[in-house]
Amino acid sequence: MDKREFDNPFEDYSGETLLTSSGKLEESLASTLRKNIDNLLQNLHVGLADTDPGDYSVYSGTSGIAALYLHLANKLGDGRGAQYLQTALTYIKHPLNHLNGRRFSFVCGDAGPLALGAVIYSKLGQNDKTKDCINRLSAIYVTMYQDKSFPDEFLFGRVGYLFGLLFVQYHLGKDKIDNSLVARVSKEVLDSGRNLAQVDRSRAPLMYMWHEKYYLGAAHGLAGIFYMLMQVSDPSVQPIMTQLVKPCIDYMVTLQFPSGNCPSSLENMSSDKLVHWCHGAPGWIHTFVLAYKIFGDEVYLHAARRCADLIWKKGLLRKGYGICHGTTGNAYAFLVMFRITQDQKYLHRAWKFAEWCFDYGKHGCRTPDHPFSLFEGMAGTIYFLVDLLDPGNAKFPSYQLW
Ligand SMILES: [Zn+2]
Repeated sequence: MDKREFDNPFEDYSGETLLTSSGKLEESLASTLRKNIDNLLQNLHVGLADTDPGDYSVYSGTSGIAALYLHLANKLGDGRGAQYLQTALTYIKHPLNHLNGRRFSFVCGDAGPLALGAVIYSKLGQNDKTKDCINRLSAIYVTMYQDKSFPDEFLFGRVGYLFGLLFVQYHLGKDKIDNSLVARVSKEVLDSGRNLAQVDRSRAPLMYMWHEKYYLGAAHGLAGIFYMLMQVSDPSVQPIMTQLVKPCIDYMVTLQFPSGNCPSSLENMSSDKLVHWCHGAPGWIHTFVLAYKIFGDEVYLHAARRCADLIWKKGLLRKGYGICHGTTGNAYAFLVMFRITQDQKYLHRAWKFAEWCFDYGKHGCRTPDHPFSLFEGMAGTIYFLVDLLDPGNAKFPSYQLW
């Protein structure tokens, strides 16, 4: 079978510094980055003219583009902040008037446009519209609660909705979302995991299924569910974290392959193939790093280092440059390692993956289904390059809040 990745042509870190004394990215590197960001933004602009405005998801549609422009407005001090914010508004307005109420999560459903809308309107000083978005976001809970078959995973499920609530709290303040709502959703996720773990006599105190499989990765599985739960700071949920979530992360550490990669599901324990954020080590690494930050156990940092070494070897993917199952999603693994360790080896690796993306489209990668989208395409690549300008504050888009 053809290899899923390209051989990594880059030398690993040899001690050079990429930062100025004040911790910023060295100016010649930053200038190269900005040039490449501008080039890709022009290509994105052309590409988006042909995309389907009916897809309003963060994952593959217009809300993802709004998320990118909000990021540009927040991060690029180039005098175009107001213009970026207006562009973000343009991309979020249509979704806000056409939500279909079929899906509820942030990345694939209505919580994404509503939470992004709240933040964008707030930045523009339109407080009534901000409130309206927040009310509609909170109201989703009623529909979700009535559907007991609702999954728990990130892309479509309860923790995907939970992320929408946390996103608004993070950007606009804790008081903007009722904390009891955050606690209720978190407890439902915990109850659901406890029930399944008991029924299945699981080795972990919480277990989850999606489409009849025990998925383990960030998109549909345990890594994403525990990551979202660990981002909840509500005091009523915190004690449960140590009691229930920590042993689950301990269990996940035991599942890591000798290669450093991580399995996509319990049904696929012999298949060490996928090195994607959605399935594999590039998603798990975020869970291990956050567990290390919260619980302080070196075992998690060690597991994360093993993920990062594997991603360095096998992370330049033939599937393309996106964040879900592409090279920049994998590069975020290095940025989170840099955040937690301050080790410039990881910044070097992130930089090399960025250099790979400077030759966007020239490696013969397969074209994703949504080539300009946030999760599969060019918008995600640009998002990453912008984050690399300020590596100490980089956050995996629509997933990481700390
Ligand atoms: Zn994917």
